[in-house]
Amino acid sequence: MNILVTGGSRGIGAACVKALAAEGHRVAFFYRNNKEAAERVAADSGAFAIQADVSDSEAVAKGIAEAEERIGPIDALVCNAGISQSRLFTEITDEDFRRMCATNLDGAFYAARDVARGMVRRHFGRIVFIGSMWGKSGAACEVHYSATKAALRGMTTGLAKELGPSNITVNCIEPGVIDTDMNKNLTESDLASLIDDTPLCRVGTPEDIANAVSFFLSDKASFITGQMLGVDGGFAI
Ligand code: NDP
Repeated sequence: MNILVTGGSRGIGAACVKALAAEGHRVAFFYRNNKEAAERVAADSGAFAIQADVSDSEAVAKGIAEAEERIGPIDALVCNAGISQSRLFTEITDEDFRRMCATNLDGAFYAARDVARGMVRRHFGRIVFIGSMWGKSGAACEVHYSATKAALRGMTTGLAKELGPSNITVNCIEPGVIDTDMNKNLTESDLASLIDDTPLCRVGTPEDIANAVSFFLSDKASFITGQMLGVDGGFAI
């Protein structure tokens, strides 16, 4: 398959790029500005790195055109690019809120819309959104983040219904606490308490999420659509 991953330069996205390329797929990925990390992932995996800010609809359209030039028509999209921010609700500025929505929600919308057109024409496609367990259960001091991830649930189910007749599946993976840069500001005691609340008693790895992505893109998942899968060690059950 020809697969596009957004936010593939680091963390979960990088693990997805590497795993999917190792399975023999042709993979292109977007990154925002970390060229060095993106080039490392590209060199390790053989995938194509494309600079495209998902919050900019023109950049997404241009990036998808470039990805299709390099790997061919996109069969599968992994909408992974995202940002987080820890802030008291009453201190979230208009700009904080807009930035969160622009990346986590608008970005997923632009990418899914622009690849879906070709998928509908070709009567095949796989779309996976990377949500968050906080989209299901909500996180204090991350209300704007939680809201964007909850919105991906609606995008997943609505889109699954609309695109199902075109043989396109749409699913959402909701990670728990995963060991990436996104969590590097957590204190040791924050981390210990999150692990304490995780029935499987550990943080997840980016590869834990890549394994679930790989499943949703595979033939084994061809009759699964509109689903939210928690990959969170049982945190949000
Ligand atoms: P990281 O911060 O480690 O990596 C984020 C990736 O997204 C980078 O490749 C970054 O590119 C890219 N990115 C960020 N903003 C943009 C943008 N505007 N346009 C294009 N690319 C962008 O995050 P994680 O790997 O931890 O998170 C990946 C996804 O998983 C996110 O959607 C996150 O919300 C979700 N998630 C993560 C959890 C965790 O515990 N880590 C838990 C639940 C969900 P660059 O390198 O150029 O900055």
